[in-house]
Amino acid sequence: MNQKRHTSPNRRREQHKPRLSAASHAPIVAFDGARLIVQAGREKSLLRRHPWVFSGALERIEGSPDSGDTVQVCDAHGGFLAWAAYNAQSQITARVWSWQAAEKIDADFFRKKIISALAARKALSIAQSDNGMRLIHSESDGLPGLIVDQYDGVLVMQIGSAGAERWRDACAGILQELCNPACIYERSDSDSRALEGLPQRNGVLHGNLPGSLLIEEHGLRFAVDVARGQKTGFYLDQRDNRALTGALARDKDVLNCFCYSGGFSLYALRGGAKSVLSIDASEEALQLAQRNVELNGLDGSRAEWQCADVFAALRKLRDQNRKFDLVILDPPKFAPTAAFAEKAARGYKDINLLGFKLLRPGGILATYSCSGGIDDDLFQKIIAGAALDAGVDAHIVYKLHAAPDHPVLLSFPEGAYLKGLVLRVAG
Ligand code: SAH
Repeated sequence: MNQKRHTSPNRRREQHKPRLSAASHAPIVAFDGARLIVQAGREKSLLRRHPWVFSGALERIEGSPDSGDTVQVCDAHGGFLAWAAYNAQSQITARVWSWQAAEKIDADFFRKKIISALAARKALSIAQSDNGMRLIHSESDGLPGLIVDQYDGVLVMQIGSAGAERWRDACAGILQELCNPACIYERSDSDSRALEGLPQRNGVLHGNLPGSLLIEEHGLRFAVDVARGQKTGFYLDQRDNRALTGALARDKDVLNCFCYSGGFSLYALRGGAKSVLSIDASEEALQLAQRNVELNGLDGSRAEWQCADVFAALRKLRDQNRKFDLVILDPPKFAPTAAFAEKAARGYKDINLLGFKLLRPGGILATYSCSGGIDDDLFQKIIAGAALDAGVDAHIVYKLHAAPDHPVLLSFPEGAYLKGLVLRVAG
């Protein structure tokens, strides 16, 4: 454990400042393991039940925990705040498992949490025939770092924290027992694993992966490649936004940027679009998209596919004076955290400005951001700036978020990473 990090010159200076803390009302809870003591005043976010403890909030660490260990998080008086998973290598030094002093973080704890997440999904009004669903959504389901997506009989686990890594096998066993899937596949290969000091992993955990995997979503069928596809294989979070956008496509010339496996394109084709031009930088994604068009018996003659960088392709379309009635922009994450917000803002502004310029009067821009580092307000401001520079007046028709199987914990606004605006420009 690197104690040095917790006694920086700044910290030492801060120690001489008077502290405004009142006496702690939190109980002292006996514990054999390590304790993280947060600085006076820095317990506030935890009292509001925000589940992250940043390294800069720590006063000291008692004991020598290993990454993944359960630690007790305490206020400056030693009063209990939470049970959390420790990670020496992350800026987020601890992620909270439980706020209950009496809780024991063991396999039964994870069983309870998983049962509760599954029950929450059963209570949603997602069609019976829709068999692609997010079953566990990390912090928002009280399981920081654990994502589980279901694609028909296959569960895909994605692990993004040292704590979830420690309990990986236990959680896989519980999921096997409760859901009885044909396969549990692990896609722990996102870039963010590096920030947590975790190695990349991609492979079968239980059972056998079927040769081909199909899901149904709002009556459309999609082939999902869980081993090589992006994220866990599909962007389930856009399920309802795809349906809504598709319903706006009748008789329209549609441009779908960052189309991946054709999600929005298929909905637009089914919705009666006159033409759909879809662009993505990944050749594999475009192949999957075309297979998905065939799978659904849709009229491929109305579809055009382009393998290109969207930033360049939009400029080319502008120079060619191409016009569309509906433009969809669903780019990858430009800002994983707030630190990247400024650079990301430039990227969003650029594509949205060009998107506005490609619209006919009265046209619709459906624009999304899945960047955790950009909140609703900032996103709207960026898009407003793009409209201004494009010289168009636009109205918000819909404000959109992720589908309800991606719930957002009220005390964890970072969970609301996906935001969308459907805008109509003046005619
Ligand atoms: N709208 C899709 C999901 C989009 S994910 C759906 O509903 O399923 C983002 C996509 O952007 C990925 O397929 C990725 O290959 C693509 N991409 C990333 N950077 C790109 C770029 N600069 N130009 C074109 N495509 C890009």
